[in-house]
Amino acid sequence: MTVTQIQQYHRPSSVDAAWHLVERADGAARLLGGGTDLVVRCPPEVSTLVDLADAGLRYVESTADGGLRLGAMSTFTDLLEHPAVVTHTTGVVGEMIAQVGSVLHRNSATIGGHVVRRRLSDVLPVLLALDATVLLYAGTERELRIDEYLAGDLGPHVVIEVRIPPRVEGSAAAFTRVARTAFDHALVNSCCRVDIHDGVIAVARVVVGESSAIGRRLAPVEEVLVGASLTPSTIDTAVAATRAAVDLHGDWIASAEYRQHLAGVVTQRCLRAVADRLPGGGA
Ligand SMILES: Cc1cc2nc3c(=O)[nH]c(=O)nc-3n(C[C@H](O)[C@H](O)[C@H](O)COP(=O)(O)OP(=O)(O)OC[C@H]3O[C@@H](n4cnc5c(N)ncnc54)[C@H](O)[C@@H]3O)c2cc1C
Repeated sequence: MTVTQIQQYHRPSSVDAAWHLVERADGAARLLGGGTDLVVRCPPEVSTLVDLADAGLRYVESTADGGLRLGAMSTFTDLLEHPAVVTHTTGVVGEMIAQVGSVLHRNSATIGGHVVRRRLSDVLPVLLALDATVLLYAGTERELRIDEYLAGDLGPHVVIEVRIPPRVEGSAAAFTRVARTAFDHALVNSCCRVDIHDGVIAVARVVVGESSAIGRRLAPVEEVLVGASLTPSTIDTAVAATRAAVDLHGDWIASAEYRQHLAGVVTQRCLRAVADRLPGGGA
């Protein structure tokens, strides 16, 4: 973004007003969250910024049933400082956010701007594993599952909040990533969650992501886990299934083969951590 590129700056006091400003601008306006992405990657046709700072979207609430409502303008620091966020589902949300960028970055970057961005993400694998939903506004409100939200071309819209369902009894999750340095984007990351019912895995989520992708659930690996106990041999089978299921690209930083190997490593670390976090301890 150049200073001269921006001709108009608005700071509406409602979501509806923000959406109308963007919708009427016919592609020339962008909503402004923390600006960490927009400042470095602002399309040349954009001449108007619509700042959401006064639209009432900076809040973190835990619902009566133990779920979370994360207002779109909440920064990662806001989330990291909220006790209900950092402890949700055996601490996986806090575990992940603490690894996103630097402290300075987390002070500005918002959860709403992050889900819209759809790339280079440690956050989306965790939202996918927790079955999060996105509440958005485009004239009317709609709530979409995070995978539906990421799959669709939704046109101009305002993300109002991200919702994380309540933790289920007997559920555990973990996040891990491998990066060249602590501040670098992940080469590969993973979030795994299992819900245990009657001693076996009733629900499994295995998500692997990497720097150019947003992360996706690996159905063949989840099928390996459902109905089994989370023993070391189940984890070994899941790791092999992960390496067979992923389709990762190679670039100047790491080859596709290395990323495929790492996918197994991060999944193994996640599932071992999940086993340790389950009620009653390890597998
Ligand atoms: C130096 C650096 C390090 C990073 N490290 C990591 C990392 O380790 N892990 C990781 O996962 N990510 C990382 N990121 C990505 C970072 O988390 C995102 O850039 C950030 O979350 C985007 O949020 P924002 O509020 O700054 O978005 P903005 O830049 O304000 O906006 C991004 C996009 O979303 C739109 N938008 C913003 N808010 C809304 C809304 N409420 N509704 C609809 N549209 C909206 C904007 O118009 C724009 O198109 C890094 C980024 C940087 C710059």
